[in-house]
Amino acid sequence: MTNAKKNNYAERFKALQTQFFDGLDEKVTALNWLGIQVVNGEAAKLVDIIALSHQLAGSCGTFGFEDLGKQARQIEQYALTLQAKNNVEDKQLSKLTQCIDKFNKNIKQQKSIPCAFDDITADSEVNRSIWLLAISEPLSKELALQLSAFGYEVVFFSNIEQCMQQLLHSQPSLIFASVQLDADKKSIFSHTDFLAYIRDKSIAFMVYSNKDEFDLRVAAVRHNAQAFYVSPLDTPTMIGRMSDLMNCESITGRVCIIDDDILLAQRYALTLESAGIESLVITNVENMVKQILQFNPDLVLLDLNMPNFSGPELTGVIRQYDALKSLSIVYLSAELNEDKQLSAMAFGADDFLNKPIGDRQLIESVKIRLNRSRELRNLIEKDAMTGLLTHSTIQESVEQEFERAKRSNTTLSIVMIDIDHFKRVNDRYGHGLGDVVITTLANMLKQRIRRSDKAGRYGGEEFILVLPECSKKYAISLTQTILDNFNKLLFNAENEKFNCSFSAGVTSTEEQFESAEEMFNSADKRLYYAKSNGRNKVVSDY
Ligand code: GH3
Ligand code: MG
Ligand code: MG
Repeated sequence: MTNAKKNNYAERFKALQTQFFDGLDEKVTALNWLGIQVVNGEAAKLVDIIALSHQLAGSCGTFGFEDLGKQARQIEQYALTLQAKNNVEDKQLSKLTQCIDKFNKNIKQQKSIPCAFDDITADSEVNRSIWLLAISEPLSKELALQLSAFGYEVVFFSNIEQCMQQLLHSQPSLIFASVQLDADKKSIFSHTDFLAYIRDKSIAFMVYSNKDEFDLRVAAVRHNAQAFYVSPLDTPTMIGRMSDLMNCESITGRVCIIDDDILLAQRYALTLESAGIESLVITNVENMVKQILQFNPDLVLLDLNMPNFSGPELTGVIRQYDALKSLSIVYLSAELNEDKQLSAMAFGADDFLNKPIGDRQLIESVKIRLNRSRELRNLIEKDAMTGLLTHSTIQESVEQEFERAKRSNTTLSIVMIDIDHFKRVNDRYGHGLGDVVITTLANMLKQRIRRSDKAGRYGGEEFILVLPECSKKYAISLTQTILDNFNKLLFNAENEKFNCSFSAGVTSTEEQFESAEEMFNSADKRLYYAKSNGRNKVVSDY
């Protein structure tokens, strides 16, 4: 993320915080006044004190005023105790008013507003840099060749000091390191500072060892290595794991936030947005369902206690709609009472998060849940072996994108790919290795396309790319690049290395097709033409 963008977030956080702080005066005046009324015998006003202090207990901490949040929680507790008793005693009453007084004074003393903006901003550009540490030749050369075929940028380091030095200036998305460091004969696991640093920076970490020893494997787990590979390295499988690791870094999704404290909801939204998660604050609850259907979120964050409707009631309403039956709903509330939490869950929500919640905790909790809902969706829409879209999902998307391109007058291109002589691969090297070839090409397709593109597995070794807003010329050159890179990959059979090729047919709406089906058939015809004219080629004009 650029500095300008970061500053922009910092300013927006600051603006919300100032607005929140300015609003505190009014709230404490209200608390004072309610306190006086209770002292004068209007015990019914306790309800309002409870509601207001409950809200403040949930919000102050998030805006960087932890002490105020704790005091508000205490006001709520005293008020609840008083409410539970019929006879309000003077002693308890004075405790409550003293506490409100203290809260008031604390606000007045708050000269400067603390900085409550953690640098949590996510990098929106994908980091494709992989560092190889103490991996010697010829393996390092082979890895560099194969990884660059996937579009990764590879940097070599012969020792850990060099690597540490560079970490001060830039950051890779993954480090692949040899367990045995040649230079000082020490294992990588003795460099705890280095390991702590990369964990802190969320850099993916994989290790490679000459020896397969249990102790080394345990050490790898202890130091959060996400994979352990032993010599001789099975490169395609390892690269597959790498691309999985790097893909799961970028969890995105959409979240709706419903809270009666609008400022707090906006603050949550900004926090999530800065981490790359799109969010929508719903202010008009009566219009909630329409907005949810339109925005199509993966998750709803719902306050529990709101003035006109409760969180469980809103959950109940959401669950009345068939289309929203499986939408994840998570309560975000300052409610500490476990019984109340549990009974709220009974209305069909999935989980409970406590307020006040820190920025990082909010982001992590939301990401975990987004990941889960993505996994569920993947089970339905994605092919288990390759992680690409299934036959029916990709076919549907060809139709959808064809209509969209027509409406928006943009160019859609599609590519059909079929691996050459794949039967021979199976026959010579076995079905297992055949699977490796399929998943490797699938990974390569995933790595090479844009976020708005789609890749599907149409059949056993047949694939389709759906490329919206993409000219035919670009589609051809993209497919040719993928083919060139696929040619470069070496697969390891027992006694030999081999490579593979594919044939492809490209079409685009520049050619004025009547229907998606017609476009599809044309791609298929071109693929067939490539097959009968020597294979290992991209055909776009037959
Ligand atoms: P061509 O160049 O003409 O495409 O030749 P080909 O051998 O690739 O031809 P064909 O499409 O007839 O053969 C595809 C083979 O792929 C047949 C099938 O056994 C195999 N296959 C399909 N799905 C899988 C799979 O998931 N794993 C493996 N290993 N093989 C598969
Ligand atoms: Mg085939
Ligand atoms: Mg084939």
